[in-house]
Amino acid sequence: MADLVVHVGGHSAQGLRPKNEDRFVADPKRCVFLVADGMGGQECGERASGLAVEIIPRALGDLLAAQQAPDLAVRHALEAANQAIIAAGRYQARGRRMGTTAVLAVHQANRVYVAGIGDSRAYLVRGRQVEQLTVDHTLADHLERSGTITAEQARNSPWRNILYKFLGCAEMTEGPDVRPFTPEAGDRLVLGSDGLTNYINDEDLIIGAVRFTRSQDWAEHLVQLALDRGSRDNVTCVVVAFEKE
Ligand code: CA
Repeated sequence: MADLVVHVGGHSAQGLRPKNEDRFVADPKRCVFLVADGMGGQECGERASGLAVEIIPRALGDLLAAQQAPDLAVRHALEAANQAIIAAGRYQARGRRMGTTAVLAVHQANRVYVAGIGDSRAYLVRGRQVEQLTVDHTLADHLERSGTITAEQARNSPWRNILYKFLGCAEMTEGPDVRPFTPEAGDRLVLGSDGLTNYINDEDLIIGAVRFTRSQDWAEHLVQLALDRGSRDNVTCVVVAFEKE
C-alpha cells in the first residue's frame, strides 16, 4: 500500500478565560500530534500543559529511536510527563494541585497510535462514520460506563468535570489505553480539549471533513464554532488529514 501523506493544522483560543492553559503540538515532521489542557489555577495549569508538550514529543522521539514498539513508547512518554509534572508540583504552594490532560497521536509505519489521559478527546472521521477513540476519565463518565447512572444523568452530573486520571496524578497506576488504527486516504483525525468537544457534534465533523481541504482552515473553523456556540473555556483543536501522495 502506498504511504499516505499527512496535512496538519492546529489552533487554540483563550476564549473568556483569563489565560490560555491549553497547549498543542502539530508536528508533521516528527508525526506527533497532541493537545494538553492544563489545570490548577495560577501558573500551575500552563506549567503542566507546557511540560506535557515539551516532554512527550521528546520522550517519544528518544524511545522510537531506541526501537521501542510505538504503543509502548506512547505509554512511556505519557508516564515520563506524568512523573515530571508530579515532581514540578512538589514545589507548588500547599493545596494547589497541578495537572493536565493529554491526548496524543503518533503516526509510525502506516499505523497511528492514539492515547488519552483526562477528558481531551480524539475522533476519527472516515466518510460518514465518526468514532471517538478515547474515553473521558471523568467521574461522571466512569459511573456511566459502570451502569450506575444513565448517559443523560452523566451529561448533567456535577462529576462531569472531575477527572480521576490526568498527568500529574500520583495515583495513575494503570497507564492509558493505546488505540492503534491503520489510516486510509481521506481519514481525518481531530484532537480537542473539552472547550471544543463539548460544543461540536458528529455532524459538524462529517460536514467539515468534506468542506475543508486545508487542515489549518478546519482547525480554526472548529475553534470558532465552539466559541460561537458559547464555549467559555480555552478551545483547542488539532486536525490531521491523511491523503494519497
Ligand atoms: Ca478545558
